Amino acid sequence: MTQTATDTSNRSEGSARPERPSRPAAKPHGQWKVDGTEPLNANETWKQEDGGLNVRERIEQVYSKQGFDSIDGTDLHGRFRWYGLYTQRKPGIDGGKTATLEPHELEDKYFMLRVRIDGGALSTEQLRVIAQISVDFARGSADLTDRQNIQLHWIRVEDVPEIWRRLEAVGLSTTEACGDVPRVILGSPVAGIAKDEIIDPTPLINALAERFIGDPELANLPRKYKTAITGHPSQDVVHEINDFALVGVVHPELGAGYDLWVGGGLSTSARLAERLGVFVSPEVAPEVWLGVTSIFRDYGYRRMRTKARLKFLMNDWGPEKFRTVLETEYLGYALPDGPAAPKPSSPGDHVGVHEQKDGRFYIGVAPTVGRVSGDKLLALASLIESHGSLRLRTTPHQKLVILDVPGDQVDSLVAGLEPLGLTAKPSIFRRSTIACTGIEYCKLAIVETKVTAATAIAELEKRLADLVASGELVDPIALHINGCPNSCARIQTADIGLKGMMLPTPGGDPTPGFQVHLGGGLASANREEAGLGRTIRGLKVTVEDLPDYVERVVRTFVSTRSEGETFAE
Ligand code: SF4
Repeated sequence: MTQTATDTSNRSEGSARPERPSRPAAKPHGQWKVDGTEPLNANETWKQEDGGLNVRERIEQVYSKQGFDSIDGTDLHGRFRWYGLYTQRKPGIDGGKTATLEPHELEDKYFMLRVRIDGGALSTEQLRVIAQISVDFARGSADLTDRQNIQLHWIRVEDVPEIWRRLEAVGLSTTEACGDVPRVILGSPVAGIAKDEIIDPTPLINALAERFIGDPELANLPRKYKTAITGHPSQDVVHEINDFALVGVVHPELGAGYDLWVGGGLSTSARLAERLGVFVSPEVAPEVWLGVTSIFRDYGYRRMRTKARLKFLMNDWGPEKFRTVLETEYLGYALPDGPAAPKPSSPGDHVGVHEQKDGRFYIGVAPTVGRVSGDKLLALASLIESHGSLRLRTTPHQKLVILDVPGDQVDSLVAGLEPLGLTAKPSIFRRSTIACTGIEYCKLAIVETKVTAATAIAELEKRLADLVASGELVDPIALHINGCPNSCARIQTADIGLKGMMLPTPGGDPTPGFQVHLGGGLASANREEAGLGRTIRGLKVTVEDLPDYVERVVRTFVSTRSEGETFAE
């Protein structure tokens, strides 16, 4: 046999082995439990040196008195977020410059302020306070976000202490509305009132918010941490795209409780959450939430911010290992296996008039792409009260639900809401279109979104009226519009998702437009299961051509679909 250079079978014992090049040591992920807490990037360093929650005192004692220019850079671009404050975009800067200008060149001396509304639950008194803050300090701006917050703009640092004083006087806050913390807790907008509710998550949402929001032990997570909890069979809190989610189920032996989902998130590397296969009773739900959140704090990846969301850990561990670590290291007991929730049987946006379990009614109304104003919200508070209700909820679909309306007040209230731009009978286009903040205020934006979306809605209502009138187009087709490659408007979960970008033109100057994603959607009455939309390679549309494009897609779908086929299919 000829011995080749690679044949080592006859090598005599004791002969020197060639040195193997040593493998480069695996890079640490920055997991506290594994690698220690030595910070591996600038964000982690400042978070450890002086946590985000500590900035409140400086805002109250120094910055609000000495003005914008006195603000330390790390506080301004880092710690301010722990109180829901981001600098907003300077007006008039073209989207093509977003990637080339430095952050300080893009930002204005005003802030966006996010008011967190856990569970979306508001009294009319609280609504009035937010509305008056909008009028007094935010040039009347107010947007309903798709995470049940209300976002104000044009806020000056000088006014922040007074805004906090007013909010906190009625039990609201901006604490941990942004930052590497547990963000607002999404909750079913019909919690505690819906006839067909499986379990009311209100006590759980309140307990989590009271016990853990602002807790320094959980105020330095690897990145943002999103929670969603529902006990309604419509699964109305977009649970598949949250880090931690509980969905109401009935266990055949243990009764009503929750099915636990972990590790969802969009933006880059979009990933749907996975079930751990456990049943979570309401009694243990707070410690299960604390356990999963603590896993994220201790094992979450902190080396690179682009890989720091819980979804990356879940991707590497998988649900089995995640469950084992949760039970053995954090809970100290095993959770029972649990059933999956059945497919939703009704839309989760709660639009329209519905009877509550106590015989009164709730009314879900749609503004256009979440945009309202301080004046409108003030008028809304008075209108609701004059019709016998003192409560409302924001929703994860940029809608509002008014609760506890006596039967004899429903028609009058529905009519009174219309002049405020809040309709209980929206067109299918208005009902299912959402848009992120976009270039008007967001420093990361490349294109305008809110006006673009409102224009598209108005155009589609006109152009596709024939299909709606003939009954050929019945189900809403979700159109989600983002101003940049992030996914604040959840484009991967839309029938038609649009990602803002500059598009080349034959003439040379780039023009604002969108990359198209098609066929995404979360669990709903219209589809079997959640799925992320596909990027249609090369399919891009300018802002100007958007209504033409959507009209074409919808007409093609209607004329070519087979019986019962949904848009997602
Ligand atoms: Fe800003 Fe982009 Fe988020 Fe829109 S998707 S709000 S443009 S970061």
